Amino acid sequence: MGLIVQKYGGTSVGTTERIQAVAEKVSRARERGHDVVVVVSAMSGETNRLLALAEAVHSQPPPREVDVLLSTGEQVTIALLTMALEQAGCAARCYTGAQVRILTDSAFSRARIQDIDAEPIRDDLAEGRVVVVAGFQGVDESGAITTLGRGGSDTTAVALAAALQADECQIFTDVDGVYTTDPRVVPEARRLDQITVEEMLELSSLGSKVLQIRAVEFAGKYRVPLRVLSSFEEGPGTLITYEEEGMEEPLISGIAFNREEAKVSVIGVQDTPGIAANILGPVADANIEVDMIIQNISQQGLTDFTFTVHKRDFQNTLDLVRANAEALGARDVYGDDKIVKISLVGVGMRSHAGVANTMFKALSKEGINIQMISTSEIKISVVVEEKYLELGVRALHKAFQLDEEIEPVAE
Ligand code: ADP
Ligand code: ASP
Ligand code: MG
Repeated sequence: MGLIVQKYGGTSVGTTERIQAVAEKVSRARERGHDVVVVVSAMSGETNRLLALAEAVHSQPPPREVDVLLSTGEQVTIALLTMALEQAGCAARCYTGAQVRILTDSAFSRARIQDIDAEPIRDDLAEGRVVVVAGFQGVDESGAITTLGRGGSDTTAVALAAALQADECQIFTDVDGVYTTDPRVVPEARRLDQITVEEMLELSSLGSKVLQIRAVEFAGKYRVPLRVLSSFEEGPGTLITYEEEGMEEPLISGIAFNREEAKVSVIGVQDTPGIAANILGPVADANIEVDMIIQNISQQGLTDFTFTVHKRDFQNTLDLVRANAEALGARDVYGDDKIVKISLVGVGMRSHAGVANTMFKALSKEGINIQMISTSEIKISVVVEEKYLELGVRALHKAFQLDEEIEPVAE
């Protein structure tokens, strides 16, 4: 009993038959006595289709209008699901993000939720209705429609669960939980019964799209009971946990990868104070986020400087750095967008020194050259050539015995 928020992703509502199946699942939860709020994504492929339409009529579609366009995807699904629920004898009502006043800032295409007016939802629930809310969208103070970034329906669900103090937020998707790595890349990947919020934050920020990073941030901040489950089969899924100490800490919980980065190298610049600021200043001024950064040891006063940005910012970044190259005294500037970042994540590595070594050995055994390395408390990331993505992730999955039931535990 109690209130649950259920979120169904694009594949789970990809056809009218699947929408009917979701309606059945929701009705069953109602029959078990739960109050249910449902968040849905656009039907699979729809958001991409809409983006392609925008790009067909404008080389750089205006962000405000892109959000008006993209929000229609979810609007279709809420209406269809509500109709299917009514057809199945389950009273329901649907709302767009603007209608339930999911208030966001005005950063079109990546808006952040600031406030949710939960009262109308509570009223509907009290009257015995299921409430269906469009994921991925909100409204800013001026009334403009906004969207929350790709995968943003996860965040809508978790934010609603926090606002309504739901007993559980259930993310239904096309896999039956969070795996040791993307099961579509490594068939031996294993479902985790639970994962700490810290690890999930890293996995999401390093490229695992099973949960949007902001959804995990919200869950952590408000301690939302959060579970990832399959839309298509019964099972326990994966629980996100908040315990800080006392749990067995697996050395490595998961492997994430990100194909969306590109790297820019500035060759042969004077190694003087301010050089990093001079190279990255114009990039920051253009609002481009930089991820990894390395600077080589200098030789004869000259050094090389390499950093990564999102692929969508690659050309812009290259142009900016090239325009600046002469002033920097750089010998050359070159870019490479055929790279992938592979990351190991695990709270256990905090207290264990050998992880990096095992990682580098496993990659070298496969003849994979590491181009960049970065580490933090519970993760190690490497950049390698894009073509080694599958080979690299599989080799690491095996090297850390992630396919075996018993996980290696840090001492
Ligand atoms: P939805 O449309 O339901 O939001 P997504 O495609 O956004 O689904 O996220 C689910 C997908 O995330 C899976 O199909 C899987 O390929 C991918 N994925 C990446 N990393 C993982 C992981 N560690 N565990 C489970 N799924 C993962
Ligand atoms: N439909 C949006 C997307 O494809 C939001 C979501 O599915 O979470 O990114
Ligand atoms: Mg998603």
